Amino acid sequence: GEAIGEKLTELAKRRGYFFRSSGSYGGVGGFYTFGPQGASLKGNVEDAWRDRFAIAEGNMEIDAPTIMPEPVFEASGHLDGFDDMLIECPDCGTSSRADHLVEDETEYEDAESLPIHEVEEIIAEYELVCPECGAGLAGVAVEEFNLMFATNIGPGDSQPGYLRPETAQGIFVEFPRLKEYARNQLPFGVTQIGRAYRNEISPRRSIIRTREFTQAELEYFVDPEADEPNLERVEDVELTLYPASEQRNDDGSEVETTIGSALEDGIIGDPWVAYFLGVAKPWYEAVGVDMDRFRFRQHLSGERAHYAADCWDAESEIDGNWIELAGFAYRGDYDLSKHADHSGDRFTVFKQYDEPQTVERATVDPDMSYLGPEFGGDAGAVAEELEALAGRDRSAFEADAVEIELEGETHEIPAEKTGFAVEEQTEAGEHVVPHVVEPSFGIDRLVYTVLHHAYREDEVDGEQRTYLELEPEVAPTFVGVFPLQNDDALEEQAREIVADLRDAGLSVTYDDSGNIGRRYRRQDEVGTPFCVTVDYETIENEETTVTVRERDTTAQKRLPVGDLAETLSAIRAG
Ligand code: ATP
Repeated sequence: GEAIGEKLTELAKRRGYFFRSSGSYGGVGGFYTFGPQGASLKGNVEDAWRDRFAIAEGNMEIDAPTIMPEPVFEASGHLDGFDDMLIECPDCGTSSRADHLVEDETEYEDAESLPIHEVEEIIAEYELVCPECGAGLAGVAVEEFNLMFATNIGPGDSQPGYLRPETAQGIFVEFPRLKEYARNQLPFGVTQIGRAYRNEISPRRSIIRTREFTQAELEYFVDPEADEPNLERVEDVELTLYPASEQRNDDGSEVETTIGSALEDGIIGDPWVAYFLGVAKPWYEAVGVDMDRFRFRQHLSGERAHYAADCWDAESEIDGNWIELAGFAYRGDYDLSKHADHSGDRFTVFKQYDEPQTVERATVDPDMSYLGPEFGGDAGAVAEELEALAGRDRSAFEADAVEIELEGETHEIPAEKTGFAVEEQTEAGEHVVPHVVEPSFGIDRLVYTVLHHAYREDEVDGEQRTYLELEPEVAPTFVGVFPLQNDDALEEQAREIVADLRDAGLSVTYDDSGNIGRRYRRQDEVGTPFCVTVDYETIENEETTVTVRERDTTAQKRLPVGDLAETLSAIRAG
């Protein structure tokens, strides 16, 4: 039959979940508007993420600008390296991602990590064609295409800026301030939920790959020498893993295990990454991802950034394809060191010793004038180089001679001339560059997965029905309230119930149009867990009761009006 994705896209538009933006002007690829139901579902998912990853973990949340100046992205590496492989059809001009073409049409699985010339060779060898017009692409050059949207800050072009391609940099660049709020104590975490922008070459598959999307990221800063995660809290969490070793096997398969065993067996390499996988799995389940269509996949070594020690993606299955929902990476000190180098600011935490410690400190005789003539008189530069050498390599103290580099030339300096000395100093602590563990979630893909996995078709009273089995915690509308017929007394009672339920903080919709069966169907398609109907029994009987209908079973029962708000609120709270 028709893939659920196609039916879902139609339902999403009809019922106000999401649709292509600027439709009156023909629309533009890669931009979607969340309608009333979609905005509410997305907001509920974001709130659930905030509850779990910020509040329950004791992490701080920030809200940084979406435009940042160029030096930030020079430091982060995005300006140079945030590229996808672009191939443009010589006949019709359609742009495609060369790596996706190769992955879709050949047995190569990780084309993104291949060098460009190899991708060009594969395209020629397999005689790949333009997916739009079928023209041959052999011999067409593949180019690096930077995915950042560029803009100018202020008039003129003297201050280039970029729309952030991820929320993470907004956290990293503020580290020198944020560590103060954490009272200079590691470990601590900072979260951010917000928009990210990528000028994707070919946005596709609805809201799965767009040009503007929402991320929820956590940057967790740890002392690599001293901090350890509290694994007891997650060690029994069961998960489905797809480790790199299995992916390399022809008949590789997923592994069912627990966090504890996966660490013990060395399947997950890093305990911090394991900890966050253990937090994420039950969370995904709670917001409505089907755990039979969910796994964590380890990155192959070619896929991983060079600084990332261990990296896993959360993936969900959509119409037979696995899509990436989130990435979990151990990033070492890469990000903070880069920003320290480029900005000159201090991206460290001062770690106080329990007691002051006496340490040996390498020093260099400050009077280097006797070395001057040999180096064109620049004794200061010589002293600086020697000092740096003494700081990083203690064996220099014992060597007969050391080598330093000045203006591209190597000079040998005999031991008696270096002026090296060792001094004892008392120090209260040391500056540590924290390491970063990063769980990075995409919200739009999750919203799509939640809808897709909730999509149901069944038959009620001989009629075909479509409904969304959304979790009550995230369902955009929680209760529909209907007067059975157009009747002032029924309507008045129904509106009173609506007001009561709204006062209780529930999201309620009132509907008095069409027959009652149609109104139920409408709410089923939106995924509203409950409908309350006010009928003549309600207003005629001494005890005021209403019919409460449950979405999934369509079972109905009568409840006293006085108990409604409390009963439904308890269900909503879980
Ligand atoms: P992909 O390989 O699919 O392009 P990525 O590996 O580049 O994704 P990350 O940089 O790890 O993605 O971003 C973290 C998360 O942000 C992803 O797991 C995904 O959920 C989301 N994301 C990334 N790009 C997009 C996009 N174009 N549209 C919607 N969500 C996205």
